[in-house]
Amino acid sequence: MRKLLLAICFIIAASCVQAQKLERIEPMNWWVGMHNPKLQLLVHGENIALLQPQLNYPGVTLTKVNKVENPNYLFLDLEISKDTKAGTFPIQFVLNGKKKLQYDYELKNRDQSASRIQSVTSADLIYLLMPDRFANGDKKNDIVKGMREIKLNRDSMYYRHGGDIQGLIGKLDYLKDLGVTAVWMTPEIENDMVHASYHGYAATDHYKIDPRYGTLDLYKKYVDEAHKRGLKVVKDIVHNHMGSTHWFFLDMPMKDWVNQWPVYTQTSYRDEPVMDPYTSEADKKKMLDGWFVPTMPDFNHRNPFVQTYITQNHIWWVEYAGIDGLRLDTYPYNDPEYMKDWYQKIHAEFPTLSVFGETLVHSAAAQAYFTGGNTVNRGFDTELPGVTDAVIKDAIYEALNGKNGWADGVFRLYSTVAQDFLYKHADQNVIFMDNHDMSRFYSMINEDFDRFKSGMSILLTMRGIPQIYYGTEILMKNYSNPDGLVRSDFPGGWPEDKVNKFTAAGRTEKENEAFNFVKTLANYRKNSTALKTGKLMQYVPEHGIYTYFRYTANHNKTVMVIVNNEDQAKTLDSSRFEESIKNATSATNIITNQKLNTLKTIAVPAKTTLVLELN
Ligand code: CA
Repeated sequence: MRKLLLAICFIIAASCVQAQKLERIEPMNWWVGMHNPKLQLLVHGENIALLQPQLNYPGVTLTKVNKVENPNYLFLDLEISKDTKAGTFPIQFVLNGKKKLQYDYELKNRDQSASRIQSVTSADLIYLLMPDRFANGDKKNDIVKGMREIKLNRDSMYYRHGGDIQGLIGKLDYLKDLGVTAVWMTPEIENDMVHASYHGYAATDHYKIDPRYGTLDLYKKYVDEAHKRGLKVVKDIVHNHMGSTHWFFLDMPMKDWVNQWPVYTQTSYRDEPVMDPYTSEADKKKMLDGWFVPTMPDFNHRNPFVQTYITQNHIWWVEYAGIDGLRLDTYPYNDPEYMKDWYQKIHAEFPTLSVFGETLVHSAAAQAYFTGGNTVNRGFDTELPGVTDAVIKDAIYEALNGKNGWADGVFRLYSTVAQDFLYKHADQNVIFMDNHDMSRFYSMINEDFDRFKSGMSILLTMRGIPQIYYGTEILMKNYSNPDGLVRSDFPGGWPEDKVNKFTAAGRTEKENEAFNFVKTLANYRKNSTALKTGKLMQYVPEHGIYTYFRYTANHNKTVMVIVNNEDQAKTLDSSRFEESIKNATSATNIITNQKLNTLKTIAVPAKTTLVLELN
C-alpha cells in the first residue's frame, strides 16, 4: 500500500514538473518587408523548453531554437525572406509528435503613409510633458484593479494623479495653438511598480501601455490625432534599466540577463570614467553596470538575447505607431558598442526617424563625446545624431543670470556656441531650459519676467531643436528638490479643477502674457526659414551685448537677435555687423510688431533679448 502511494505521488509530481504553458511570445507580431530579414521571438511559459516548436509558412524559416538556463524560455530565430506575404500562421509546440500548444503569429504589411515617421528637426518645437500630470481624460482608468500601486492621491507628489493619453489627446489643439510642433511624453509603457510608478522609467512590460494611461489602440490613436494636426510624436525609451517587478526580471531567462554584482552596486552617475583616458576599469564598470537605483535592474547589454529583445521592441513601437522621434534615456550609462549597433539597426528600418540621447554632462567636449562622427578623437563613432544639450542650457542661464566678465555672463553663451566645432550636427541637439528632472525655468531666474522673455527668445532662436517643459508657458515654478515638485499637475487638466489654465479666461494677466509671448515666437518660428534651417553667425559680445544672426544661404531671410542681460537699457551700434546685415535698412520686432526704420543704432531695453526680422 505504502509502495503504491509513493508510486502515485511520483507519477503526479512528474506530470506537474512537465506541465507546460505558453504565457507570451514577443514581439507579438511582426511585419513583412523589413530591412532585416531576421527576427528572434522570445517565448515564455512554464517548461516551454520541453516542447519542440514548429512552423510552416511560405518564406518563413525557423533557423534555430535557442534553449537557455531557464526552461521557461525559448528564443526562436526566424528568417523572413523578401517575398514573404503578410498573413497569420500557427507556431506549434510539440511533445513526442503531439501538438501541446499553439500561437497564431501574424506578419503584417508595413504602413507606408507619408504622415508616418517624419523627422523631428530644428524646424520643430518640442513640448515635453508627463502623462500622469498633464490632463485626465478618463476617470475610469484612474485606479486599475490588479496593479501593484492602486492608490490615487493628487495631494502627494509620489502617487498616481490620474492623467492619461485620452487627456493628452484632448489638449493637442491647445498645443497646436501654442505653436508646438512635436510632443514628447515621458514613458507611457506599463510601470506596474509598488511605489512612485507614475514617472514611467521602470518598465514592467515592454509591449504594453500602462492601463492607467490607456491601451495600445489609444496610443496609436494619439499618434494619428497628433499627425492630423501637424504635430510630430517623440517616444521616450529606456535601454539601460527596467523596473524590479518586470515579469522577466521576476523569472529571468538567464543569470546574465541583468548586470549582477556580489552585493548591490549603484552606478556612480559619473560620465567621466566612460571617456577618461586615465580611468580605472573598476570605475568604468561601476558607471556602466551599476544599477541606477535598487528598484531598477540594469540590463546586460553584452548579452545578445538582451540586445535583440530591446532593439526589436523599439522597432516594433516605431512600426506599430508610426512615431517620429526617439529620446534615449540615460544614454551614457548604456554599453557604447550595443548602442551603436542599435542605432544602425533602427536607422536601417526607419531612415527618417530622429534620435537623440539624454546626456546631462557639464562640458561641450564631454557632450560631443557621445555624439556621432568621432569628432573628439574617441576612435569610435557612436553614430548618435543628437543629444539633450545641457551645456547650452547652462550657458543660457549664465547669460541670463550672470554678471558679464571675460568668460561669464553673455560671454559664456558666446563661447559655448563657439565650441560647436566639436559636433558633426550641432543643429540636431535638443536645447531646453528645464525638464522633469530639474528646477523649473521660471524659478531658476528668480521669477524675473523680463528674464523669462529673454530666455525664451534665446531658446527659440538659437541653433538646435528647442524643447519646452509643460507649464513653462503659464509660468509654473518650483525647484527640483525632490523632483516631484517640478512634476505638479497642469491646472485645469482635471475635470474637478477649479481653475483651467488651458484657457485664456483661466489664466492670470501675467500668465496670458507669458503664454502669448511663447505663442508669438513659436508661431513665427514655424514660418521662418532662417530660424528653422538657417545658418548661425555670432559676434564677440561688446559692452555687455551679445548679437547673433540666423540667416538663409542667400541672405534672403535674416533674423537678428540681440541679448542685453544687464539692468540698464543700451544702444547698440550695428556698424560692425555688415557681414550679416548686408543691404537691410529696417527691421520688424517680431514680438511687438514694431518697425525699426534704421539699423544704424538699435535701442535695447534692460534685461531684454530683441528678435528682429531684417527687411
Ligand atoms: Ca485617468
